[in-house]
Amino acid sequence: MYKKFQDHLTGTLSEIREAGFYKNERIIVSPQGAEIELNTGQKVLNFCANNYLGLSNSQSLIDAAKKALDDHGYGMSSVRFICGTSDLHKELEKKLAEFFGTEDTILYAACFDANGGVFEPLLTEEDAIISDALNHASIIDGVRLCKAQRYRYENANMEDLEKQLQAAMAQRFRLIVTDGVFSMDGNVAPLDKIAELAEKYNAMIMVDESHSAGVVGHTGRGVTELFNLRGRVEIITGTLGKAFGGAVGGFTTGKKEIIEILRQRSRPYLFSNSIPPLVAAAGIRMVEMMTETNTLQDKLHRNSEYFISEMKKLGFDIKPTKSAICAVMLYDAKLSQDFASKLLSEGIYVIGFYYPVVAKGQARIRVQLSAAHDTEHLDKAIRAFEKVGKEMGVIQ
Ligand SMILES: *Cc1c(COP(=O)(O)O)cnc(C)c1O
Repeated sequence: MYKKFQDHLTGTLSEIREAGFYKNERIIVSPQGAEIELNTGQKVLNFCANNYLGLSNSQSLIDAAKKALDDHGYGMSSVRFICGTSDLHKELEKKLAEFFGTEDTILYAACFDANGGVFEPLLTEEDAIISDALNHASIIDGVRLCKAQRYRYENANMEDLEKQLQAAMAQRFRLIVTDGVFSMDGNVAPLDKIAELAEKYNAMIMVDESHSAGVVGHTGRGVTELFNLRGRVEIITGTLGKAFGGAVGGFTTGKKEIIEILRQRSRPYLFSNSIPPLVAAAGIRMVEMMTETNTLQDKLHRNSEYFISEMKKLGFDIKPTKSAICAVMLYDAKLSQDFASKLLSEGIYVIGFYYPVVAKGQARIRVQLSAAHDTEHLDKAIRAFEKVGKEMGVIQ
């Protein structure tokens, strides 16, 4: 039996390779940070991590994790409701709710699980989910697991959202779902307009703050802070794997009855292990740090503004962004790959994205800024972009 299946897989793998979609992994042998070392010995500046606040290798988080390792041990060997809930889990849940201005929080092993487990316990075939077309894969999968009627609107298109809401008036409850920041363009969901439409059509709102938490808004509280809507959306999901330390873990935070139902019925919560106490302890420390000072957010915002304005001065075509994601548009798949590999030889690690990750003809290099970058790192990247851009005829 396996022989036939093996031939089938080998065939599929060669198709992926021939189409140019095969993903190779670069191997990093240093901690995550602005400067990393690859297993080839090459040292590069990293502009493609979600390490927005530079916390992935924060001494403060490492110390908090080490302390928890000593006094809480390594693993929980249980799901939360059997014997997998420690004081650290409860404290992190409370701290995240304070951070986002919500009522309660439930932790998951990942935001993929938070999104996978949020819809099915809350909504039935009598209800409607109205989802942005560019929402994260985990939202799409979560919606698939739920029996609610599905409506999709074009990315951040409020006319289309209104049309879909009108159609969804046939259902009992309506939930609008959007990413806070869309990962490919870095654009922010127009939450102010979404909230107006939600009011008009009597709908609830869920925002996935994975790319916006810690990043967007003056104090990094995300898009609800940016649009002055703290406490006004019913559900927020997010990850501990990006700005919030970059290890692992996800959460849903929002109205307390919603969180209570999720604790009773959400399958990835009920049937998957608790996050290690050391991750919870570092998470607690992370929220405390963000509450004490705004220096990391301020530095990230300054870095993003500086990089983007310098790139625009050089003549690069940059997608409008309000996040730490800067899409340098090249429009050609091969060019995006060649450009990225030339940048790597210049010591700048970025990724070129093209169809099907982005729309056809929308190839680009995505640069992710971080509070870990110093001005000299940014200047080195800008000079490398200028050099390669001129060589390849992208800029004058
Ligand atoms: C990264 C991301 C996720 C997944 O987060 P994990 O904690 O890594 O599973 C979910 N939603 C969005 C919008 C993301 O960007």
